[in-house]
Amino acid sequence: MRIILIGPPGAGKGTQCQRLIELLKVPHLSTGEMLRAEVRDRTPAGLEAATYMDQGQLVPDQLIVGMVNRRLQASDCRGGCLLDGFPRTLPQAEILDDLLERRAMCVDGVIELAVPRDELVRRMLARKREDDDPEIFANRIASFEVQTAPLLDYYSRQGKLASIDGLGTADEIFERVQTAVKRFARAARGL
Ligand code: ADP
Repeated sequence: MRIILIGPPGAGKGTQCQRLIELLKVPHLSTGEMLRAEVRDRTPAGLEAATYMDQGQLVPDQLIVGMVNRRLQASDCRGGCLLDGFPRTLPQAEILDDLLERRAMCVDGVIELAVPRDELVRRMLARKREDDDPEIFANRIASFEVQTAPLLDYYSRQGKLASIDGLGTADEIFERVQTAVKRFARAARGL
């Protein structure tokens, strides 16, 4: 299955992704991690991306799309994958649908981890990671609300969205994630 996990920064996507890849036995495609590897290796793409990432802004779509497309073509993604951090804009979602359609594939389901903004800020202040400068964190939330939130509508219209409550323990949230995955699996079998 091809599943997308969407959530604002600090929603707890990382924890749920780890559990989900163990359950589904599919590769975890995190564009944040791919970009950080490019930055570390000081590739041209990485150097360009860093100027946006340092400000909490999204990197340009064309930089991301090539990277994801190459990854999606790898043989380990044939049986499915978990997309984390991509797509993040409407153009990215449309391009992804195109790329998959050309290979007679599709997105099976999209899980939104919904967490209210004041809770995100509270968590950010509590964990204080070095990339959690309050101003930059605010930029990341703003880019989620402005650029990424419209995707929820896009996938909802396709009947593929499962919005789940991102408050609670990691176990409770994973229960909700599994319920969503079962629904996607039934839909994929045409039930
Ligand atoms: P977050 O903690 O905000 O979920 P990620 O680890 O997914 O962050 O990504 C880190 C940064 O990488 C983002 O703030 C953004 O600058 C960039 N990035 C990751 N994925 C994308 C994408 N699909 N489109 C544009 N920029 C991206």
